[in-house]
Amino acid sequence: MVELGFEDLAKYPILKEVEAYFRERKISLEELSLDDYRPVLERARERIFEAVERAKVSYRRGCPDLEIMSFLVAFLLVRASGSEFLMQKYSLSEARRIEELLQGEKSDGVFSYVVKALGIDAVALEDGTFELDFDRYLRLATRLHSERWKLVNRELSKGSVRIPRRDLVRLVREAVRDLIYERLRKAPAPKVPELLKGIVEELKSISPKPVRRPKAKGGAYPPCVSHALEMLSKGENVPHIGRFLLVSYLYNKGVGIEDIISLFSTSPDFNERITRYQVEHIAGIRGGGKKYLPPSCRILQSKGFCFKTEECDGIKNPLQFRGRKVERG
Ligand code: SF4
Repeated sequence: MVELGFEDLAKYPILKEVEAYFRERKISLEELSLDDYRPVLERARERIFEAVERAKVSYRRGCPDLEIMSFLVAFLLVRASGSEFLMQKYSLSEARRIEELLQGEKSDGVFSYVVKALGIDAVALEDGTFELDFDRYLRLATRLHSERWKLVNRELSKGSVRIPRRDLVRLVREAVRDLIYERLRKAPAPKVPELLKGIVEELKSISPKPVRRPKAKGGAYPPCVSHALEMLSKGENVPHIGRFLLVSYLYNKGVGIEDIISLFSTSPDFNERITRYQVEHIAGIRGGGKKYLPPSCRILQSKGFCFKTEECDGIKNPLQFRGRKVERG
């Protein structure tokens, strides 16, 4: 049985032991208005701003109380803001912080404990790699798109997948992100005391305004494209196939590069340089100069990104869709 210290709880505040710690302290949002808790409030606010501005929360070594409390207070403030964008962004940024800390974790006991606490049954092998259940691997790796995550590039044995520690930790990021986001989504909105309303309003104001849907030439958006736009407007993370569809569809319908890039600014992992590169690549401005067409309806169906309605009748590619008039922002 591994012994967890305060510093461990501060590093991995998703552990159930942290809930007990917070319950013991019996801190409420009302008390946070008191001067005694100002450092906690300031650090909580800093965590949220780091999430928005850098997409990763930092870690302050040597002050576990402040780190644990500020994690929970930031959670409550993000929940109180009711902003889907902040919930997504905060979940991802805390997950990146935990990923980095776990990557450098010196204690094998703590490492295994954190991984198991996330419901990942990974068996450590003598050569330093890990075996984990096939289903769990698929569920976590499904949104990772580089070649190494494809099953054909993995060693499989009796229902398990063998992966190096670095890749296990990358999967942990996905599990932590899901866990924090689900907790945020399900938590009741806390009652915000008068003195903290200013902070909650400030957080609402840093969430990007819903992006106007660009005008595309002729016809309405097909349901799959509308779905991707809807996800972006809520600050949700659009899967790779949805992004590819959106960019290729809009570009082929005459929407400009800058308008397409700005659509992604609400995405939790938005990085303008990378987005620009990807958009220009799909548009044929970079790389081999090939301008891509949207994926076919058959491919979109097979990837679970088809939301067919009667208006899709018989078409083979979203570009053929001719439904209602184009929706506007
Ligand atoms: S049938 Fe084609 S156009 Fe219609 S939602 Fe599915 S993928 Fe999109």
